[in-house]
Amino acid sequence: MVKTMDTQERGKIYQRVVLLTLSANVFLTLLKGIAGFKAGSSALVADAFHSGGDIVASSVILLGLCLASKPPDKCHHYGHEKIEFVLTALVSLLLLYIAYELISVTINEKIMLNVTRVPDVMALWVSAVCMIIKEAMFRFTVYRGQKLNSTALLADAWHHRTDAFILGGIFIGVGGSRLGYPLMDYLVGLVIAVLIIIMALRLGKSSLQGLIDTAPEQEKMKAISSVIQGVRGVEELHKLRGRSTGICTYLEAKIGVDAGISVQEGHEIAREIKTCVQRAFPEIVDLTIHLNPVGK
Ligand SMILES: [Zn+2]
Ligand SMILES: [Zn+2]
Repeated sequence: MVKTMDTQERGKIYQRVVLLTLSANVFLTLLKGIAGFKAGSSALVADAFHSGGDIVASSVILLGLCLASKPPDKCHHYGHEKIEFVLTALVSLLLLYIAYELISVTINEKIMLNVTRVPDVMALWVSAVCMIIKEAMFRFTVYRGQKLNSTALLADAWHHRTDAFILGGIFIGVGGSRLGYPLMDYLVGLVIAVLIIIMALRLGKSSLQGLIDTAPEQEKMKAISSVIQGVRGVEELHKLRGRSTGICTYLEAKIGVDAGISVQEGHEIAREIKTCVQRAFPEIVDLTIHLNPVGK
């Protein structure tokens, strides 16, 4: 019962964070779109379209988190947390698409059409203001993501930082073309696109690791082993394995206990192990313990 409530509470915090960043992205998209058109900055207009993509990504995550925080049901006995990894994979694909769009728009405008437009100074100010807002969004989301140990929120946070980098690139590109180097805008655009591709691949990798039941870090498994071995009545630790699904970790342990003890005593040992492990590692939502008899 306690586990279900915790998962739901976490889900609510997620939804608040995602809603907040979603509203900020809507604001930034409008700001960049309007300012980009008025200032005649193709980079800022392109970034407005990119932020439109961000809004779609955040909406997808928000929708999925409602499902991920759902308690276990008849069809999904282990809960729905893995939906988070599927969504991370979708966001990764979306980033790849955005990178493709950025590259094709840049090549089309600078090489195919050979356009050399000098943007208004307003584009410079707007990119600076948007960059500061995006960096603030990154710090806020990373803080929340680390607290909740959520890959989806951390993925979202790094996306905000990428956005801040993009805006920094636009600032330099716009500034450069205003100083008489129109090629700078073009080069900055390509560098940004490559950065987005790298980030998308990194996200895709982390979501795949979650989908194929990656174990907790070795250091953590060692720490858990020593907690179990420290419990009174535990003679041997035969096997310990674990897997992470989103914000939760599940463990299975095979413990050797004195063959002569009663079922009641064995049960008490198992319960004590669970209490000690969960006290030390709150993210472990379930620990299945099998008792093996050890003869004396
Ligand atoms: Zn279900
Ligand atoms: Zn973005």
